Amino acid sequence: MIIAVASGKGGTGKTTVATGLMLALRDSGHQVAYLDCDVEEPNGHIFLEPQCNESEDIYIEVPEIERDKCTLCGKCAELCAFNALLVTSADVIIFHELCHGCGGCRYFCPVQAVRPGQKKIGIIDRGTAGQAVFVRGELEVGTVLSPPLVNAVKKNQISRGVNVLDAPPGTSCPAVATVRGADFCILVTEPTPFGLHDLSLAAQMASSLGVPCGVVVNKAGDSRGLIENFCLQEGLPLLMKIPLSRTIAEAGSRGVPLNRAEAGWDQMLLNLYSDIEGLIMSERAYGNQR
Ligand code: SF4
Ligand code: SF4
Repeated sequence: MIIAVASGKGGTGKTTVATGLMLALRDSGHQVAYLDCDVEEPNGHIFLEPQCNESEDIYIEVPEIERDKCTLCGKCAELCAFNALLVTSADVIIFHELCHGCGGCRYFCPVQAVRPGQKKIGIIDRGTAGQAVFVRGELEVGTVLSPPLVNAVKKNQISRGVNVLDAPPGTSCPAVATVRGADFCILVTEPTPFGLHDLSLAAQMASSLGVPCGVVVNKAGDSRGLIENFCLQEGLPLLMKIPLSRTIAEAGSRGVPLNRAEAGWDQMLLNLYSDIEGLIMSERAYGNQR
């Protein structure tokens, strides 16, 4: 089971839900892994206090030019969709920070003047949070290419049990890389016009990836049915509401998970998981009938 926890914008409480869900599952005896795919700003460890005992550097392949072979024909620069290469009358200049590591320039160079090099894009830390598996990625400072690191984090998913993926905020490539292939996506939002706008983008992203999703409203108060109406209109299940509560907010600011902030949340989060299981099963049953 792979559950991605995503949000159209930052600061909605995505990590609060992801870490709370993981802890509720772990403490009720499930095998569970928490994978922090928010590689630009991982912060799940603040709530989970894991013991990490393994670190791995993650690299992507970048081109290196063999100057004695290169004829300065310009084909590699023509081909590169990311403008990572510039061929002048005297040299080939590589902008490593723009390179996506697709290998196209190496493949198409007519004289095999491009050889594979490596660029570090970040690290992965592995460990445990109690009985649960904990993995997080952290992007190298100055690197913008995060999807390969997200994919490297996802390779650590457990094959039996529940994987909770804490997605980067937004709907750009790193969020897409996280949600792609999940069994379900929890969309965390707040009941404001901005929250609604970004929720609609996140719902479109999940839908275009073919991942069923449902909504959790954080800081829920009197919002005149803003999110409720959207869910009704779009046929999205409204799975849970976390009230606008000073106790929860203060606990969060001290790195205390939702489950430890107030009594009753373990059960609420287990109910959330049961609802998700039911939705996945009905989605699969419906899919089989189609
Ligand atoms: S395609 Fe090969 S030979 Fe042509 S400029 Fe690029 S590296 Fe040099
Ligand atoms: S590996 Fe791909 S992205 Fe990088 S320079 Fe070559 S063609 Fe461009």
